[in-house]
Amino acid sequence: MISAQEALSRLREGNRRFASDLPSEKPFRNQEVRIKLRDNQEPFAVIIGCSDSRVPVETVFDQGLGDLFVVRVIGNIAAPSQIASVEFAVDRLGTPLIVVLGHSGCGAIRATVEELLHPAENPSQNILAVVNRIRPVVEGLLRSELRDDTEALIDEAVRANIHASAEFLRNGSPLIERLVRERGVLIVGAKYCLDTGVVEFFDGMSVGKSL
Ligand SMILES: [Zn+2]
Repeated sequence: MISAQEALSRLREGNRRFASDLPSEKPFRNQEVRIKLRDNQEPFAVIIGCSDSRVPVETVFDQGLGDLFVVRVIGNIAAPSQIASVEFAVDRLGTPLIVVLGHSGCGAIRATVEELLHPAENPSQNILAVVNRIRPVVEGLLRSELRDDTEALIDEAVRANIHASAEFLRNGSPLIERLVRERGVLIVGAKYCLDTGVVEFFDGMSVGKSL
């Protein structure tokens, strides 16, 4: 298995190809690859991304079959079942890199902001459970000067929510904590821009600082 830094470089290079409209290096339908992967998989990165149809993870990183272990859920939250999927990849498959991938214009973040600004009857307890997980991030920002600028508030909430999910992964799983310590597993946040197609990676400590 490659190192976490090499895995990060592969994602950066793949996203550069995607955002620049360069030809893909990863054909999705390739019988040789399918047969090679039939009995085993070694994905080099596990990614918690949003379900948004505009952010298909393999596409934006120009990766193919067997490359990425992907968990998609609205708002790229890290609830117990998402954390379990990450644990499975890093522990059982030896995946060295974990990425929390948020994106600009995220509907789940917008829904949470709107819910806090204009509380209304929520049609679904299930959606409410996701909103409630994002809520603490937005509540903090609502106490700042961003309160008066909804679009800026949503943009900042996207970043803060990526940071929060990464922190849940760092501190919410003794297994992941151990693998970070013993095997050098890396957890990073990243944000996809719907306009440019570019993924910006954040360093391990601060979401505001680009890698
Ligand atoms: Zn989203």
